[in-house]
Amino acid sequence: MRRLWVRPAVQGAFLLFLSWVGFRHQQLGGGPGGAPPVDALCPLGGLEGLHRLLTQGEWLRRLAPSSLILLGAVVLGTLLFGRVFCGWICPLGTLGEGMAALGRRLGIRPLRVPPGVDRPLRWLKGAVLVGITLWAWRAGTLAWRDYDPWVAWMHLSAGWEEVGERPWAYVVLAGAVLLASLWIERFWCRYLCPLGALLAPLQRLAWWKVVRVPDRCIRCGACDRACPVGLEPLGTERVRSGECLACGRCVCACPAPGALAFTGVQGRTLSPLRLGLAGVGLFLLVWAGARATGIWATFAPPRQESVQTSPGEGIYGWMTLEEVSRTLGIPAERLILLGGLDPGVSRDVPLKKLPGVDDEAFRARVAAALAGAPEGDRKSPPPNPDEVRGSQTLREVAVLFGVEEAALLEEAGWPRTVSPDRPLKESAAALGSDVQALRDALKRLTEGVP
Ligand code: SF4
Ligand code: SF4
Repeated sequence: MRRLWVRPAVQGAFLLFLSWVGFRHQQLGGGPGGAPPVDALCPLGGLEGLHRLLTQGEWLRRLAPSSLILLGAVVLGTLLFGRVFCGWICPLGTLGEGMAALGRRLGIRPLRVPPGVDRPLRWLKGAVLVGITLWAWRAGTLAWRDYDPWVAWMHLSAGWEEVGERPWAYVVLAGAVLLASLWIERFWCRYLCPLGALLAPLQRLAWWKVVRVPDRCIRCGACDRACPVGLEPLGTERVRSGECLACGRCVCACPAPGALAFTGVQGRTLSPLRLGLAGVGLFLLVWAGARATGIWATFAPPRQESVQTSPGEGIYGWMTLEEVSRTLGIPAERLILLGGLDPGVSRDVPLKKLPGVDDEAFRARVAAALAGAPEGDRKSPPPNPDEVRGSQTLREVAVLFGVEEAALLEEAGWPRTVSPDRPLKESAAALGSDVQALRDALKRLTEGVP
């Protein structure tokens, strides 16, 4: 049996490189100056974002042109060389194969799933594909993220906090991608992967396929035993199954010269190494071409109209409060109030890096608070001065409500010597007054309440 060492080396390189990108994303955040988010590096994102792109001319949040370029590269590569993306590139497939190898080393006997169970189970991934595509198209969000093992893997370096944020994604990663593969190699690829479901029909159309020459075959069954997804090349002359990953393990395992090979429609053969390198090369060529022509982008800013109608679209974890403020045209003080942040929170630190702040929860609170407000009202002070807290300072309140500090002090009957940067409750206590006096003054100034 020949061993093809280049394939695991290429798989390992992609796994390491993409994991490093995930780590960098946790450090730098996303956006124009950061590292790409995981979603922008997933070919399936190209499909999930297609509906919004065609109907509204913009990308779903976290997707970008890179998603569609990668999808195009994978589709083209599959039509020519088969599912080389699955067999040589995809990190989840690599993890599934790695765990199976570990299982063999640990003496775990691979489980053979009876065909009557295996065949219907393989349809599951088609249902997953249809489900998440319709979900994304109808909801206009990447709702699948909370269950996506790829998202989980790429956020591993974020630590336990991230696990708590989307526990189901980690359950799927640990259960279906890693643990299950100890017994059933590439369990995730066989039964659940939506991208695999998308590529399976294209694999059937692939130009190059595994072909067995019966006259040379000695019927030893080595090819069947080598296949990571349970196919049986021995039972056919041309492997037409959409499940074939173009990994070449069957060809390498075959002891009979010329009995099994990747063969093109016109009869030309290619070694597994050449086929794999051609597929990976094409993938890299498309990526390099997209970069060279300037169409490669892993961040797509939302359109201004979208931000106006859905303010949450303009808030990202890599932004500082000041940047969110500029994007939405809302004072930072008001964002702090609406988002439930501490008034003393830093305004020039990315939301994701603010200690004790959940950027997604902040985004959701701001979006919900602004959702019902008429567009013109979003930039004006909140209608209820009773929301003012004693921990806020005079300066913050004045900016938030758009009133002069001096006018506010005068209306409240407080002296002009009050420090603008001292918490209101401290100033009130020093004056023998209370914060309510200032709230009432605000009402009179902003609402005309007598
Ligand atoms: S089937 Fe899915 S997870 Fe498996 S290698 Fe292909 S894309 Fe990756
Ligand atoms: S049939 Fe051969 S090339 Fe296809 S997945 Fe199985 S071992 Fe890999």
